[in-house]
Amino acid sequence: MSTDRYRRQTLVKELGQKGQELLATKHAIVIGGGGLGSHSANLLVRMGIGSIDIIDDDIVDITNLHRTTVFSEHDVGKSKALILQERLQSVNTKVRVKGINQKVTSENIWSLIQHADVIIDGTDSVPLRLLINDKSIQHNIPWVYAGVYETVGMVMGILPKKTPCFQCIAQDIPEPRAQEIPVLGSLPATIAAIQSNETIKLLLGRQPAGLLIYDVWNQCFDTMDIKRNPYCTMCGKKKK
Ligand SMILES: [Zn+2]
Repeated sequence: MSTDRYRRQTLVKELGQKGQELLATKHAIVIGGGGLGSHSANLLVRMGIGSIDIIDDDIVDITNLHRTTVFSEHDVGKSKALILQERLQSVNTKVRVKGINQKVTSENIWSLIQHADVIIDGTDSVPLRLLINDKSIQHNIPWVYAGVYETVGMVMGILPKKTPCFQCIAQDIPEPRAQEIPVLGSLPATIAAIQSNETIKLLLGRQPAGLLIYDVWNQCFDTMDIKRNPYCTMCGKKKK
């Protein structure tokens, strides 16, 4: 029996042993440990990213369980970040997993992300995504946006100053009016899996291919080849 846990993955020609070794040198920061972030962190730990921080100041609530697979009823009331650290570290002891029980703010974001090779969006907040986007462009850190609403999910990899940024598309992303975002339980796992694919590709130097929209109810995949907005207030060169 092979003791190489990544054997089946290194057989993938797009990745190979070299790609696997490269992933082991990378540091990913997952902001948000809920439906999207917990699934993405889980996949990235299993796929062998060298080091992963998961940042979330929230506790597990019973209403989280329909769309997450790492948490159980026993975890209700406990820190999402610390539970994720404990569970995911036991999945792969070769990866360094750190749960950070903190709220991300404009004051502390740089200290939290400064060593990141990639940032994974597990938030459900447009203002927080704009803050991540701002720091990403300022410090040239790629990130992978993902969002879910009802039965529709979106994913977009962002390479600062090379691909459209979140601000370039922000006017097309509706800010949810409802206090609680409606979401089909299986949707975050689906979208987080796509987000994890995009993360691996970004880390291996593959250029993102635009905004992907998946409507599970109508079984419809769409990729929008969005162009950078030259007047974008965050990544644009021109002024209006
Ligand atoms: Zn932009």
